Amino acid sequence: MDKTILVILDACRFDAAKRNLGYIESLIDYKKGAKYRLWGELPSLSRTMYATMLTGLPAWQHGITDNEVNFTLTCDHLFSLCRRAGGVTAAASYGWMSELFDHGPFDLVRDRYQLESEGNISHGIFYVHDDYPDNHLFADGEYLRKTYQPDFLLYHSMAIDRQGHLHGAGSVQYEKAVCEAGYILAGLLPQWLKEGWQVVITADHGMNEMGIHGGTDSAQREIPLYIFSDKVRPGRFEEQEMTGLCVAPLLCRLLGITSGEGMIHEQIL
Ligand SMILES: [Zn+2]
Repeated sequence: MDKTILVILDACRFDAAKRNLGYIESLIDYKKGAKYRLWGELPSLSRTMYATMLTGLPAWQHGITDNEVNFTLTCDHLFSLCRRAGGVTAAASYGWMSELFDHGPFDLVRDRYQLESEGNISHGIFYVHDDYPDNHLFADGEYLRKTYQPDFLLYHSMAIDRQGHLHGAGSVQYEKAVCEAGYILAGLLPQWLKEGWQVVITADHGMNEMGIHGGTDSAQREIPLYIFSDKVRPGRFEEQEMTGLCVAPLLCRLLGITSGEGMIHEQIL
């Protein structure tokens, strides 16, 4: 299995990423990676999109139609497919990921640390407060990466979403949160790539100026997709129409595992 990192910057809009992720954008300019513009699925809500991005299925198919619809998915997803193929998985993420892909309901005391588990997520460190700092989240992920060397590792940060809800997209606070995630990634990415990891950086949905997401306009739907892998042709493909359904099958191809039932074949590779 080819080791792969997935970074989800919660609520990072396409235009905000372009303005603020300077180091990552420079790697695309130098053709060290590929960049696409994703048109997110609907509704552009967090729990629904976590499910969509990791199953490759639209909401009407996987059934997580709203943030309040809370059950553990039984359909194929990246964690279960990776485990079935004999791989080790890990996640440093919001507790909803544990509920969706491993077990629920989330209990902070019981479920914050799930290490050496037999479930779909072999090693997990989870948080529940939306203001959990991004530098702590990435430190959690780095602990999992260095300690367990998983095949598939998810880093899922929340500060951008938090500032977007409080102050609206386009606010100083929202832009700064994107910037700060970019600084953290600029510190980690060279090491990841040097050690041979493939890296995918994206978001679950966007955010509008009123601090809302869930709806259909481009502010709430347009998100970036950066891919760093020898298997992917480098360059800017921002005008190509891709949807959020492509992320799961893309990751299966990068990992070198069979994609799940119903995943639509993507054309990035
Ligand atoms: Zn949100």
